[in-house]
Amino acid sequence: MTDKTYDIIIVGAGIVGATLARELSAYALEIAVIDKAADIPSGASRANSAMIHAGYDDKPGSIKADFCAPGNRLYQELAGPLDITLRKCGSYVCGFDANDLKHLEKLLDQGKRNGVPGVEIITGDALRAKEPHVSAEIAHALWAPSGCIVNNFEAVLAFMDNAQQNGVELFLETELQDIVLSDDRKEVLGIRTNRGFMRTSVVINAAGINSDLVAKMAGDDSFSIEPTRGEYYIMDKNVGNLVGSFFFPCPTDKGKGITVAPTAENNLLIGPTSVVQESRDDTSTSVDGLKEVVDGARLLVPAIPLGMAITTFSGLRASASTKDFVLGVLDTPRGFVNVAGIKSPGFTSAPALAKHTVELMKEKLGDRLSFASKPDFVPERRHIPRFEALPMEEKIRLAAKDPRYAQIVCRCEMVTEAQIVEAVARGARTVAAVKIWTRAGAGRCQGGFCGPRVVDILARELGVSPEEITRHGGHSRYLVGRTKDYWFKGGEK
Ligand SMILES: Cc1cc2nc3c(=O)[nH]c(=O)nc-3n(C[C@H](O)[C@H](O)[C@H](O)COP(=O)(O)OP(=O)(O)OC[C@H]3O[C@@H](n4cnc5c(N)ncnc54)[C@H](O)[C@@H]3O)c2cc1C
Repeated sequence: MTDKTYDIIIVGAGIVGATLARELSAYALEIAVIDKAADIPSGASRANSAMIHAGYDDKPGSIKADFCAPGNRLYQELAGPLDITLRKCGSYVCGFDANDLKHLEKLLDQGKRNGVPGVEIITGDALRAKEPHVSAEIAHALWAPSGCIVNNFEAVLAFMDNAQQNGVELFLETELQDIVLSDDRKEVLGIRTNRGFMRTSVVINAAGINSDLVAKMAGDDSFSIEPTRGEYYIMDKNVGNLVGSFFFPCPTDKGKGITVAPTAENNLLIGPTSVVQESRDDTSTSVDGLKEVVDGARLLVPAIPLGMAITTFSGLRASASTKDFVLGVLDTPRGFVNVAGIKSPGFTSAPALAKHTVELMKEKLGDRLSFASKPDFVPERRHIPRFEALPMEEKIRLAAKDPRYAQIVCRCEMVTEAQIVEAVARGARTVAAVKIWTRAGAGRCQGGFCGPRVVDILARELGVSPEEITRHGGHSRYLVGRTKDYWFKGGEK
């Protein structure tokens, strides 16, 4: 596929792979990131609650506890330079009775020990004075002001975009099939992919739900992953202000429970469920799962307006058998690094995990990698202009400069032709990638109106026919042919 020798190949371009790629791109190293998907983010980093947790949930001393609160601080530091939409809205864990209050006190203690700023328990009445739509049954709540909501699509793109600016190469639709080791299986020599061999002496396993399978390729069977599905509803923006913060019930053995929260773009999000399954790629939703979501959400906010639902989705947690993140630079084979089994609060922890992993690599792999700083490292990047959010004078200025800013393609999210053209210039190749970059198709009609226009613009900009455009790569063609080219005779084309 390429004759080049890479210092490091990262497998997986979710938030873990993307934050690692950016962190490593500050050094004079040849780095490639591969992902089997046609657009990023595609795994758990695409389908989650998008909460940047404060850090009170995890048992002090666990790996998760070590990285969650520092990850939260890093998002607040990096959102500006990397141009990521982040809202510091705080979060509440709600308690209904005396048992729940004990639980809140435990979380308060954990929060203090994990270094979470400003955590406190407030009464239900104090909560309702700020958030009038929450249940009258809530007696107490743990308030954590540092909780944030992030646009998870933008965050992954931002870290990866900045890494690419700093020389990292991203290979999409490139699936790891095997790790090539020396005859004595003590050294990493490269990887085999569906697109050929790639030479490297260091492989970082950031393959999310498949990270146990990747570890096994290197001879590491110290953990396994149990896919755990979480289903959600997204509601229209006109009910996005029903609550102003993230609301959780008291956690149980199954996880943090069904939440109610605004999204970074002011939709309302409810979910997720938590159901263990065999499949590593089934992200369908179910009648039972969605009913559980609504019932759970209404315990916190009784007036959840189900009629305002615009779509449903589900994501798969990579639950590791160790019950914690799996981190480490292996002694054998040399050159294999795990950042694996990263379930919640993995999105939050990722920037801190990346910093820690680079320090570990310096210590353990310093003999094969030179960590000389890159003098021309650029720590900042800008996202495509978010037309809808701009002041009117700025909209007029942009449209005067480039008339494609005056062509609204997605009317729900007010996305212009110029933004879609810019997304293609930055690497979008599919309808899903345009949605991830610009939000075209993410609104109330879910692409019903703008989908064909997006296909048309993608085809024009990529210089291919509309029939070649896919929804998300592979065989997911958007169109099967031109209407008048088709005729059916007894079932034959
Ligand atoms: C329902 C749900 C809710 C969550 N809510 C939150 C939350 O609110 N806050 C929070 O902090 N965390 C949350 N999380 C956890 C968070 O989403 C994950 O911890 C994080 O996204 C994991 O990132 P990752 O990069 O490890 O994995 P992923 O995002 O899954 O990325 C792994 C990548 O590896 C690629 N890959 C896999 N196998 C191969 C292969 N063989 N070859 C090439 N590429 C491969 C995949 O295509 C994928 O792109 C939630 C997770 C779920 C599922």
